[in-house]
Amino acid sequence: MQIYKFGGASVKNAESVKNLGKILSTNNTPVIVVISAMGKTTNALEKLVEAYFTKNTGKAYEIASQIKTVHLRIFDALIKNKASEKRASLDTLFQLLENKLEKAPSLNYDYEYDQIVPFGELLSTKIVYLYLQEIGIPCTWLDIRQVLRTDDQYRAAVIDWETSREQFRKKLSKIDHHVITQGFIASTREGISTTLGREGSDYTASVLANLSLAEELIIWKDVPGIMNADPKQFPNAHKLEKISYQEAVELAFYGAKVIHPKTIQPLQNKLIPLKVKSFLDPLSEGSIIQEIHEDIDFLPVYILKENQTLISISLRDFSFINERQISEIYGLFDKHRVHVSLSQNSAISYSACVDCEKRRLPDLIEDLRKRYKVLYNEGVELITIRHYTDSCIQEVLSNKEVLLEQRSRRTARFVVRNAK
Ligand code: ASP
Ligand code: MG
Repeated sequence: MQIYKFGGASVKNAESVKNLGKILSTNNTPVIVVISAMGKTTNALEKLVEAYFTKNTGKAYEIASQIKTVHLRIFDALIKNKASEKRASLDTLFQLLENKLEKAPSLNYDYEYDQIVPFGELLSTKIVYLYLQEIGIPCTWLDIRQVLRTDDQYRAAVIDWETSREQFRKKLSKIDHHVITQGFIASTREGISTTLGREGSDYTASVLANLSLAEELIIWKDVPGIMNADPKQFPNAHKLEKISYQEAVELAFYGAKVIHPKTIQPLQNKLIPLKVKSFLDPLSEGSIIQEIHEDIDFLPVYILKENQTLISISLRDFSFINERQISEIYGLFDKHRVHVSLSQNSAISYSACVDCEKRRLPDLIEDLRKRYKVLYNEGVELITIRHYTDSCIQEVLSNKEVLLEQRSRRTARFVVRNAK
């Protein structure tokens, strides 16, 4: 069995769905195909949740209607046979979304998010499925929420492996055609929708690869493979041919957008190789992540995280920051679910670089300020260079003011802002 994962960019319009059909049509063995929401739909749905949650009903309906228009346009461009019959299954989804918007929101933002954002994946998979039927590729559509069970940590749900394995065995162990299903979404034991964190479709695909003992997972992207830098940020990016699981985990941890950080572990546990290939050039080699024992020469890898906040915390009376305070500070980060990308402490202060999470940071800072003096810089960048050399550091830091820096044998990290 193979698992394919197609991200938002690979299903962003009718042309790209046709291209997906072409890739699948060349494969005669059954594939489980994991698909994300089309294009930037998840971002639009996040805005919709915001409007719904803040009871801005007009805005919520307006965004819902835009999402509907975009999807129907793609549907119309793809589906000609029995179009009205096939429209019905999409209309059911639009109706469910509207029903949700009619009800008043609860007080739990994360819960509401998980009841609305999954529509992106449900719609995209429905349209792809209908199109594959249209061109005669045998396949079924599966609501992955019937297979993947999680706890109820909404927006960051944790897979219940045992139940998911059992469900997988019942529903997916013997398939004789392609299965079209959603990434990123799952459900609790009670059947309430959950999500696995932004960009979580890679992780879904890797969980399914683990459960099916797949021979490989292929993630189809709009780049030739895993690059040593994001080509949008560094025009000189090169492809990495082969990467070990361990190196891939390191890259994902530092914020490389190649793959969702949780993707590697389920694959590594079963030694399933992960290929990253271009959907624009399906015959080219791409990159492969697998078990590698020999030493390979590393290219420097550049990872840029934008929109970070650097928080600096100290005691008001100028006393030392010791283990007890650090543990209390970490407890507060954990309580507010703010992830620390990099931290450093000096005698009297502790600094942490975190994602600028508008919903979580203000409460965290307020909590911290009950005991500490807190200063922060917004809009900074975190640059990581793996396998760095002096010259690549120099190049990356030209025109930057360094606020904090850390170097280990293989990795150099800098919190910077643009020099004035
Ligand atoms: N659609 C979701 C997102 O954009 C999940 C994914 O694309 O992996 O975050
Ligand atoms: Mg996406």
